Amino acid sequence: MKPLGPIPDGYAAKDGQLAIGGRTARELVAEAGGTPLFVYSRRHMDDRMADLRAAMPDRLAIHYAVKANAWRPVLEHMAGLADGFDIASGGELALVTEAGIDPALVSFAGPGKRDRELEAAIEAGVTLNCESENEARRALSIGERLGRQPRIAIRVNPDFELRGSGMKMGGGAKPFGIDAERVPALARAMIAAGADWRGLQIFTGSQALDAEAIAETQGNVLDLADRLARAIGQGTLPRLNMGGGLGIPYFAGDTPVDLALVGKRLAERFAALPDTLAGTQLCIELGRYLVGEAGVYLCEIVDRKDSHGETYLVTDGGLHHQLAASGNFGTVVRRNYPVAIATRFGEEANEEANVVGCLCTPLDRLADKAMLPRAEVGDLVAVFCAGAYGASASPASFLGQGPARELLI
Ligand SMILES: *Cc1c(COP(=O)(O)O)cnc(C)c1O
Repeated sequence: MKPLGPIPDGYAAKDGQLAIGGRTARELVAEAGGTPLFVYSRRHMDDRMADLRAAMPDRLAIHYAVKANAWRPVLEHMAGLADGFDIASGGELALVTEAGIDPALVSFAGPGKRDRELEAAIEAGVTLNCESENEARRALSIGERLGRQPRIAIRVNPDFELRGSGMKMGGGAKPFGIDAERVPALARAMIAAGADWRGLQIFTGSQALDAEAIAETQGNVLDLADRLARAIGQGTLPRLNMGGGLGIPYFAGDTPVDLALVGKRLAERFAALPDTLAGTQLCIELGRYLVGEAGVYLCEIVDRKDSHGETYLVTDGGLHHQLAASGNFGTVVRRNYPVAIATRFGEEANEEANVVGCLCTPLDRLADKAMLPRAEVGDLVAVFCAGAYGASASPASFLGQGPARELLI
């Protein structure tokens, strides 16, 4: 037996089924026209943002990292909740623009920005989080050619990282950002060349659950920003994007971030900011924390079979929509996400089964050796924590399968 991850709050049983927003899994599937289906709950996103704002200092702006889920209705909903949007490609720029988001609220990070992406961003007035000296210079010359003053921020590769973070994106040699010691010279050169100087982005990692580690890292980010601002020598930093890092519980034993503690520590730091940061716009950028738990992936059991004493529930879904839940998106050891039989929600777990997808590869697993209520062909399986890096980060066309349906409720 292998344990399942914890089911997020706010999912109840109704008529023996998983209900989302008061509607049962079968009703949602009927409304969408079939499975596989992602259901995203507005209510969960609203509550999450409300909790975050209640815990964090008022002064902290909250940005949405679009790569977590860029489906148009989700983006449109987030447009009413977040203070800013962080994109990582020209494709995401098109998506936020189509969703009616003001480009002045958008910043663009990510290595390997092509000239046409820089052009589109500068034309729209998006802030560029420059990832290299070369990129910053290209942005300047494109701005000159277009007759537009580029909004330039610098993404810093810090000399520390977020402890316990699932994905390390700072500390040591990295393709992301510019090594901290080289930042002041580049910032001065950009300001001297007439860029609209927008400050710094310091992203240190992702998927951290330890509030102490998050608070410590945020303190280190503020200290580094202060040091860099003093070395740049232009007074107050216009903006500091402090990165994100708040994670969600995916696996057995994971516990939610102690938001109150993070908020309290940040408030203490904000109460004693150095001059360089006193008037600075401060923000964090979050993806999975804002939308991850708001999404549930529903698929249908199409076959039930035994092999050498093990039971297999074969679904019409799989890693082509749920690469991360299958254990193939940046995990070393495969562990089970929170998974349930949606049409027998709350029933006693009385059999050990393997839930697999419909792809002809042994990688396509949704739950290994999981204790579940006995399920039959036609039952629905729910995979939780599917709101982030599900549809947006899975190879939907693998084996000719195509994308899942999506529904925002
Ligand atoms: C991926 C990414 C995020 C979002 O990460 P989450 O873990 O989803 O919160 C934020 N900022 C940057 C720079 C990123 O690359």
